[in-house]
Amino acid sequence: MSHRFTDEAGLQIADVVVLGAGIVGVTMALELQRRGHNTLLVDREGPAAGCSFGNGGAIGADACTPFALPGIMRKIPKWYFDPDGPITINPGWALRSVPWILRWISASSMRAARRSALGLRFIQYGCLEGYRDMLGPGLYDDLVREQGSLYVYESATPSRNELVAEEFRRELGISSRIVSADELTEIEPSLSRRFRRATLLPGNGHTVNPKRLVDTLFDKFTAAGGSFHRAEAIGFELADGEVRGLRTRSQSLPLNRLVLCTGVWSREFAAQLGVRLPLVAERGYHVTYTESPIRLNHKVANGSRGFGVTSMETGLQITGTVELADADAPPNWRRAEALSRAAAAMFEEPLVGNRTRWMGARPSLPDSLPVIDRAPRFGNAFFNFGHSHWGLCGAPRSAKLVADLVEGKSVPPEAGAYACGRFG
Ligand SMILES: Cc1cc2nc3c(=O)[nH]c(=O)nc-3n(C[C@H](O)[C@H](O)[C@H](O)COP(=O)(O)OP(=O)(O)OC[C@H]3O[C@@H](n4cnc5c(N)ncnc54)[C@H](O)[C@@H]3O)c2cc1C
Repeated sequence: MSHRFTDEAGLQIADVVVLGAGIVGVTMALELQRRGHNTLLVDREGPAAGCSFGNGGAIGADACTPFALPGIMRKIPKWYFDPDGPITINPGWALRSVPWILRWISASSMRAARRSALGLRFIQYGCLEGYRDMLGPGLYDDLVREQGSLYVYESATPSRNELVAEEFRRELGISSRIVSADELTEIEPSLSRRFRRATLLPGNGHTVNPKRLVDTLFDKFTAAGGSFHRAEAIGFELADGEVRGLRTRSQSLPLNRLVLCTGVWSREFAAQLGVRLPLVAERGYHVTYTESPIRLNHKVANGSRGFGVTSMETGLQITGTVELADADAPPNWRRAEALSRAAAAMFEEPLVGNRTRWMGARPSLPDSLPVIDRAPRFGNAFFNFGHSHWGLCGAPRSAKLVADLVEGKSVPPEAGAYACGRFG
């Protein structure tokens, strides 16, 4: 099914151009290439240059809790005044945050949150198997650990958010189990004794290196015959209800079909294709202690403070928190320092030694669900972006759904949850 055409000027026309080489774009390109489409992947830097570089690495279908949950409203005032809190709003962004916050509030009713949980479950379902299939067993075992994830808590009693998350898990048939303080010490001896209980989600896993995961999938794509072009896209050639080309800073690349996978940078491109979306940057940070002797047996999330800790092959990585700000504004390293301080209290041993720091911009929509759809006004353009907190988990299935759309196949009705028109 590989199509190779040339335009009048003799330029080769890609059957499908995938714009953006993060985890979502690379997985998308690999899926299309494996289905026999002559696929060109385009990125201004290279694989994993954006949010996919340094995320927390969690992969699993069991993390289906949306960001906006009932009770969010009373927490919001703190976001404006606590620059070191788990969620903060950059002062330069305070006014612009208002419409976004209002959308978040409306997505936080029990009914809306339940809808989002269902949408997350559907898109994440089978993601570990999806990576195994794409990587093959050897590379999968090298890159992925299926050890489960642990949410640890300092308080003796569950918060309202925890109870809601538990209710969703029960409804969705996700297995989880309560771990006592004593058992926690047994299974994660390096954690501080301050944690009084934990929840174990045994079905989840994690990658030991999110960047290497993307690079490895990228290598699979090129080995299967896929092409990569490094260029910054600036827009499209549009004619007669179709996208005819991708305009980059230096040339126009002719194409038959386009899939937009540019993460948080997709908003402007989608607008050029006639779709306005409330897509914003939920920026997060990581600090990696490259020589830390601490080893965790699970991916651990600090359920009380909104960050996680993962034993990566690059060191002990503390990842998380949310900062609403411009995606491209300079990193606010104060956030990384706050993350380090909060993480230090999690362990019996001090966190010392060399550190690396990173900031990434989650591409987020108010309901925590991605946009997976065909552009309504341009029949040969497709969307696959907005995976917010869970792009690693959602990438394999969203690639399959969008590849079906590209091939003109029907997709299951559940995919309606990701329609680009859902925000009106
Ligand atoms: C702190 C933190 C922790 C996280 N932890 C997890 C986790 O544990 N598990 C999980 O599943 N998810 C996690 N996430 C979320 C996850 O990282 C994202 O959902 C995912 O990386 C989004 O991937 P993407 O491919 O859509 O976007 P990106 O990785 O941002 O890729 C977009 C690509 O588009 C390219 N691009 C942009 N504009 C242009 C242009 N004009 N021309 C050419 N190329 C362009 C960029 O160079 C980039 O390579 C976390 C995120 C953060 C910030």
